[in-house]
Formats: sequence, C-alpha cells, structure tokens
Amino acid sequence: MIYYLCISCGRKVPHELVKKKVKCPYCGGKILIKYRPQNAIKHIKAR
Ligand SMILES: [Zn+2]
Repeated sequence: MIYYLCISCGRKVPHELVKKKVKCPYCGGKILIKYRPQNAIKHIKAR
C-alpha cells in the first residue's frame, strides 16, 4: 500500500485518493510527499 504524506496537515493519504487529483482530501493541501513504511525502505534502491 502506498501512502502520501500531506505536509500541510501531516496526515497519511492513501494512494487511491491521490492518483486522480494531487490534493489532500482532508485539508485541501496540494503538496504531498511519498510516504514509505520503514520495513519497505530496504527493498527500494534509488536509481
Ligand atoms: Zn492535508
């Protein structure tokens, strides 16, 4: 499950809610960053 983190209100927003409109459904903030659970980081390599 992929989440985004809203920098305005700090809530986690499920990817499903973001893919249509890049907007926080809770506060309307337009700046969202990708949130990765810690246990998934070691499986992801930066390219
Ligand atoms: Zn928000």
